Amino acid sequence: MERCFECTACGKCCYGQLPLTLNDAVAYADRFPLAMLWTIIRQSAKSFAITARLGVVVNIGKRKRVAVRITPVSYMPPSIPCPALATDDRCSIHADKPSRCRTMPFFPYREEEDQADLLIPRQGWLCDTSASAPVVYRDRNIVHREDFDRERQELVDQTPVLRAYAQGVMAKAPNVVAALEKAANTPRGGTVVLNFTALASRLPQMDMTDFARKQLPVLTAFADKTAGMSDAADFHRYYRDNAAGMKRFLERA
Ligand code: SF4
Ligand code: SF4
Repeated sequence: MERCFECTACGKCCYGQLPLTLNDAVAYADRFPLAMLWTIIRQSAKSFAITARLGVVVNIGKRKRVAVRITPVSYMPPSIPCPALATDDRCSIHADKPSRCRTMPFFPYREEEDQADLLIPRQGWLCDTSASAPVVYRDRNIVHREDFDRERQELVDQTPVLRAYAQGVMAKAPNVVAALEKAANTPRGGTVVLNFTALASRLPQMDMTDFARKQLPVLTAFADKTAGMSDAADFHRYYRDNAAGMKRFLERA
């Protein structure tokens, strides 16, 4: 089986949340509104095993175990374009764009043999999947695999840090465990969004004052942009509350 795919740079997939490697999140703290997304993956899902390897496994009650994918994200509502998307729908940081954007449409949080459905463009996306586009996936193997392998390696390398962070959070915050349990009990498995600061403060050599100075204007701009947007109320609260926290931190620094 061969699958063809070519990006026509339409920019349609550059909206909403963008998963980032930890390195990319820190590197782009002056551009993206950062958060941590915890995604429940059920034991019956194809990506359970790889999520358990790259994230954490959590016991929910006495019988249920779920894997949790823990991802730094540029946290944005689906209706808002990435701040790096230029007015001509091109990526303004193309030469240095995050690993996630380089590997698109493949997704190394899933096994290599479980990528075929990602090559089907979502509604409105203008990806070329005709026979004249390059073959990118053959017999469940990625043909040009440098970006996929690089992003996967970053995910492997960051796993100990994310796991220590997650275990620390779960040990100290019963409300997070309760939120995970609630998400795990939704029919398709849900997500929990936490602030990025708790992770940032654990990173070695992280200058928290510099980080806060970069994030504060980004969060403030997104709080302003989403004010009054009924479909982005949760996002607005997140930006507003985290901007206020950063402001207090900088006033004390
Ligand atoms: S960084 Fe560039 S390629 Fe990635 S989502 Fe933003 S605009 Fe799109
Ligand atoms: S939607 Fe498809 S064609 Fe458009 S930018 Fe994204 S990957 Fe490229």
